Amino acid sequence: MDLSRRLADISRRLGARFGRPGRCAHEGDPVRNLILTILSQNTTDGNRDRAFSSLVRRFPEIPRLAGAKPEQVEGAIRVGGLAQAKAKAILSALVRLKREHGKYTLDFLQTMALPEARAYLTSLPGVGVKTANVVLLFSFGKEAFPVDTHILRVAKRLRLVPPAADLSRAALSLEPHVPQGEQMPLHLNMIRLGREICRPRNPLHADCPLLPVCPEGIRDKEKRSALLHK
Ligand code: SF4
Repeated sequence: MDLSRRLADISRRLGARFGRPGRCAHEGDPVRNLILTILSQNTTDGNRDRAFSSLVRRFPEIPRLAGAKPEQVEGAIRVGGLAQAKAKAILSALVRLKREHGKYTLDFLQTMALPEARAYLTSLPGVGVKTANVVLLFSFGKEAFPVDTHILRVAKRLRLVPPAADLSRAALSLEPHVPQGEQMPLHLNMIRLGREICRPRNPLHADCPLLPVCPEGIRDKEKRSALLHK
């Protein structure tokens, strides 16, 4: 089966188990989504949300945030970890938007083709392919496919990407094959699968809706069964 058909099949199986995902924290204003996504790097959703709420409480309007000192921003987002790097990324993105567009907006990305829009976002310091794709998918409805560490692990076990693929390579190689309209549900349901079932250690193959189509799950199952019959 080719990659496009495999991804369609995987999305259907995940949808049958988990349903179509509801609203996501990343929907909404693109600049706020960019900030939220920068805050989500290397931390849990809970700490990301705490850091974002703290930042919005301290700086309710974007122009006030843009005018803040780095130490003030760092203080507001400390709970999310990597505060210095994240504060720098947020502030430099805002400075660049104001300088190039006269205001704090990313609306100009709407009319750009996906590769150009992604190239713009990844040219901002501290913004990688994953962050750019989250903004492009959730705020603009573009056909980007963000890959996080959960999706990367699941994709490797399913042999959808090579074992050495990193987040960016996996995202760019899977993206053209994700069926139209499935980017968001597949992204969210693969993350859910990675958290609940295809965990880093002790994946629950027997309870996995993808077991019939997963080389690693099938191999592990066969190994266990061979051990039992020794
Ligand atoms: S069968 Fe196992 S390895 Fe494959 S996706 Fe499911 S939990 Fe992960």
